[in-house]
Amino acid sequence: MTASSMESLVALCKRRGFIFQNSEIYGGQKGFYDFGPLGVELKNNLKAAWWRAMVYNRDDVEGLDSSIIGPQALFDQSGHTSTFNDPLVECKDCHARMRADKMADPTKCDSCGSDNLTEPRDFNMMFQTQVGPVDGNIGYLRPETAQQIFANFKNVVDSTARKIPFGIAQMGKAFRNEIVARNFIFRVREFEQMELEFFVKPGEDEKWHEYWLEERLNWWAEQGIPRDKIRKLDVPADDLAHYAKRTFDLEYGFPIGYEELEGIANRTDYDLGNHTKAQSELNIQAEVHENKRSNAKLAVQDEDNNWLVPFVIEPSAGVERGVLAVLNEAYTEEQLDDGKTRTVLKFKPHLAPIKAAVIPLAKNNADIVAKAKEIKQKLQALGLGRVLYENTGNVGKAYRRHDEVGTPLCITVDFETIENAEETVTIRNRDTMEQQRIAVAELANYVRQFYSAA
Ligand code: ATP
Repeated sequence: MTASSMESLVALCKRRGFIFQNSEIYGGQKGFYDFGPLGVELKNNLKAAWWRAMVYNRDDVEGLDSSIIGPQALFDQSGHTSTFNDPLVECKDCHARMRADKMADPTKCDSCGSDNLTEPRDFNMMFQTQVGPVDGNIGYLRPETAQQIFANFKNVVDSTARKIPFGIAQMGKAFRNEIVARNFIFRVREFEQMELEFFVKPGEDEKWHEYWLEERLNWWAEQGIPRDKIRKLDVPADDLAHYAKRTFDLEYGFPIGYEELEGIANRTDYDLGNHTKAQSELNIQAEVHENKRSNAKLAVQDEDNNWLVPFVIEPSAGVERGVLAVLNEAYTEEQLDDGKTRTVLKFKPHLAPIKAAVIPLAKNNADIVAKAKEIKQKLQALGLGRVLYENTGNVGKAYRRHDEVGTPLCITVDFETIENAEETVTIRNRDTMEQQRIAVAELANYVRQFYSAA
């Protein structure tokens, strides 16, 4: 099941502390969102799952965490200062600004319906800033994490002795001054990307492109987004970015319709070719900007000691769009036997913001409270993620709240726990709502096994 509308997701996210509009107390800043107590856990869990799959579980990818601000030279060379533009149209009557290629009707203002529009003009989406106190020393907030990966190519190769095929993975903030930020966290001005640049021998690029398409579809399925909910768009040649030989967009059925969740591009040798020195000595296939500033040769030697500039396959996913898709897929409303409806977020357990809630049945009984706190600490020490001591006193309400935030296990400590020599607690499963009694001594094993089997 999925959410019936974007509104129901937005409302749940605010009510339960997943996502808030940024600077709401000052009227809100459009295109910026903050992740609350549960949102930060969900986001971190999704990123950790990506890192595990892309770096730890493989032997051909290295990690990187580069600066957000990059120098003018980097973004001149990559082509962003001249071409990272969207077409901006302004309504001469109501002064609304729109992105020409996203208008409902390109001849009419989205806001007031007037046809009194300006011609589209290029609007550069990069945020510019000044670096240091010297006037004119410009830097840019990166609009994608990728360029810094290319800039570090030689550092990584030299320090790890990597041979192609291999990849460099990076997760982190990206900034785009979108003309119109809309649809909750789908299109924002500050977001995070999870990007892999996978360097391969020219000629083997098409095979690797297909390989990464499969890998990424499998990964999204593991995050609770089945393959049949993702549409693969083989981007038509005239819609391709200028650097791409071919791109697959993975489009997910968001509440606003099918839209891009991740792009998997074959970027050829465009990027390394742009950032390398000695361009004329290398057999670069892409059309690149002349580079007089780079001091590094971004190339590798093949078996015959010939220099070659690797091609790049880039799976690039947005964290916010991932979180939105995961939330939407997890959102479930169930009719109960007593006629009531329960809302449950059926997250895959590894993504759940809270791994287990420990609930004392009576919050003013010192023995029950002490036992519940002791259990919380023990389970927390398993290192599975956040375990919450839930001291609200009403078990029924706590179950409902934890259903709504997707906590897979609730553990209730009651009089039997402290009175019975066996020390048993009730453990409740989010999805089946089944409750079973289990000895405290068995609890850590039970929870560990639950998470390793999930
Ligand atoms: P769109 O066509 O939706 O503007 P894009 O094709 O420009 O996206 P890419 O440059 O391929 O996006 O960026 C890779 C990924 O980064 C996208 O698949 C998306 O998940 C994410 N992303 C890009 N722009 C935004 C944004 N403004 N807000 C949130 N996520 C974004």
